[in-house]
Amino acid sequence: MQNITVLGSTGSIGTSTLDVVARHPDKYRITALTAHRQIDLLFRQCMQFKPRFAVLLDENSAAQLRALLCDAGLATEVLCGVDALEQVCVLPEVDAVMAAIVGAAGLRPTLAAAKAGKKILLANKETLVLAGNVFMDAVRISGSALLPIDSEHNAIFQALPRNYSGDLAGHGVRRILLTASGGPFRNTPLSELQNVTPDQACAHPNWTMGRKISVDSASMMNKGLEVIEAHWLFNASADDIQVVIHPQSVIHSLVEYIDGSVIAQLGNPDMRTPIAYGLAYPERIDSGVAPLDLFKVATLSFDEPDFERFPCLALAYQALRTAGTAPALLNAANEIAVAAFLDHKISFLSIPRVIDEVLNRLPVHVVTGLDDVLDADERARSAAEHVISALVK
Ligand code: NAD
Ligand code: MG
Repeated sequence: MQNITVLGSTGSIGTSTLDVVARHPDKYRITALTAHRQIDLLFRQCMQFKPRFAVLLDENSAAQLRALLCDAGLATEVLCGVDALEQVCVLPEVDAVMAAIVGAAGLRPTLAAAKAGKKILLANKETLVLAGNVFMDAVRISGSALLPIDSEHNAIFQALPRNYSGDLAGHGVRRILLTASGGPFRNTPLSELQNVTPDQACAHPNWTMGRKISVDSASMMNKGLEVIEAHWLFNASADDIQVVIHPQSVIHSLVEYIDGSVIAQLGNPDMRTPIAYGLAYPERIDSGVAPLDLFKVATLSFDEPDFERFPCLALAYQALRTAGTAPALLNAANEIAVAAFLDHKISFLSIPRVIDEVLNRLPVHVVTGLDDVLDADERARSAAEHVISALVK
């Protein structure tokens, strides 16, 4: 029996995780569930999974959940705040942590889980973008098992040798091919991108996801963050990672070897596959995902990425090459710009402009510890707010 904490249980990844867990009550037990402030859904999840702990961010929401649980006669203890998120990751009885909070808010609890040597199912890519070396050091020191849940990285993990040690060339790998659907605006005339709405940006052709990652997919910043994520997970340089536009989202990524072999992982676009893989690794369990019908898919197509259409992708490659705190600046500026776009404050095309401006304004430092990235994160957020207020004047 594996005891699991699900960080961000009310989100898209969180609910998919619980869907898989519910299929295997003999294998997995939920110790803690956490959410920002979706009280009703968290309450329903508590009723179903009877965790020992539930965590919400503020005291007011926690009090409401406490009252609901008390009325229902459930013994789940409700905690609140960021410290509580860390607390439910490091409990001695917890075996695995699903890191599925969105954005930099996921960093602290995910890092705490790594330091405590828990098995980590990593969906929160922002942790790696923001603090890749700090996090990977923590994983190495504690001996945590790190399972990538992002579908592309999960595919790469599956296509690399089981004993992969972080040396691409040593394992005969020529390069990593990271697939991208191209999002909802792959073919939208460039002249129309100025006026696209948040709802249009969130209408992803293949995946249903939270709003932040959906906007990232539309701008292809998501793929940019994933390039940086792949860098840390697989010790791959920017030049080792080729983004491939593959609109069907059936091949989730590929690894090319020096003998000419290219190994891919395929499946229907449903996050329950990588989640089930992470939960059961090194075994396989049923995920509830329908079998892939290749006759129905019929055609797989591939394109080179268009950096003019997707300047966010170029900015992310640039930040990875600059290294140091540059990816942390990129990530924070992107979070602020995406939130402003979702709030109808700035246009879709202003997202890369805000990020570019922040990267030009702020110095990049070497990362020696967590404080360096947290400082960069804070300064980039405030610089991005400034750039945005100047834009909306
Ligand atoms: P989502 O917005 O659907 O859910 C986010 C979860 O985090 C919710 O439970 C929310 O309550 C919680 N949360 C939000 N802000 C918080 C805060 N400040 N403090 C604590 N909790 C907070 O997001 P999602 O689509 O499930 O994505 C989660 C993570 O997984 C992201 O990092 C995303 O990049 C990554 N990811 C998602 C998908 C996908 O298909 N959805 C695929 C790959 C990777
Ligand atoms: Mg992905």
